[in-house]
Amino acid sequence: MTQTPDLYRRIYARFQAPVSRYDCGRKCAPLNGGTPVCCDTNNAIPIVDKSEWQFLQSRSDLWHLYLKRDPDTLHERKDMHRDCRLVECKGVQHCERENRSMSCRAFPFFPYLTAQDEFIGLAPFWDFADRCWLMNNMQVVDRDFVTEFVAGYEMLFDADKKEREANFDHSAVMRRVFTRWNRLIPLIGRDGEHMAVEPRTHRLRKADWREYVRHDQFKDEKPARP
Ligand code: SF4
Ligand code: SF4
Repeated sequence: MTQTPDLYRRIYARFQAPVSRYDCGRKCAPLNGGTPVCCDTNNAIPIVDKSEWQFLQSRSDLWHLYLKRDPDTLHERKDMHRDCRLVECKGVQHCERENRSMSCRAFPFFPYLTAQDEFIGLAPFWDFADRCWLMNNMQVVDRDFVTEFVAGYEMLFDADKKEREANFDHSAVMRRVFTRWNRLIPLIGRDGEHMAVEPRTHRLRKADWREYVRHDQFKDEKPARP
């Protein structure tokens, strides 16, 4: 089975819950000139599969292809699968919740897979830890979001094993980076529980969210109420 626009129709219908009850865009925007960090293509350019792109185009004119050819974009394109597209929305003032891409819905998390290829939960895109408020307050992540995230990615993985492989590889990179830093990998398990992967042994265990390292940018700020 492969990806189709209809697959994305079904995934979007299943995966709609907000990541948290906090409006986290208001928390990080002051660090990024007034725009939420993950809605700014200067920080991250959304990548969509060809089928997702077709589906989005059939629903809305919110999105257009991202065609700038600066060195960062060219580098991004070089590593991208030929079925993928770099895209950009009209901006946060024009956001349409129902037409957010899969990457908008999932951010700041990706599906974490163990070395045994088991999809055990959600891990943060650690490159954004210096700017993403939510990543430094993982205790606020909503249980419904976790359930819908897992269901959405299960549907995607069932349809396309390359998606699973890409996340398997990204999880392996995370283990290497965190081993080098000698730091726990913070995880949210499939049932919303807080977990951690030990840096050297990669042993998985239950964790308290207070164990998660906060970036210097946020460490003096009072943690948000769970
Ligand atoms: S997920 Fe992170 S980067 Fe995106 S709006 Fe929330 S705090 Fe900002
Ligand atoms: S569609 Fe909405 S959530 Fe996604 S990048 Fe645009 S403004 Fe942000």
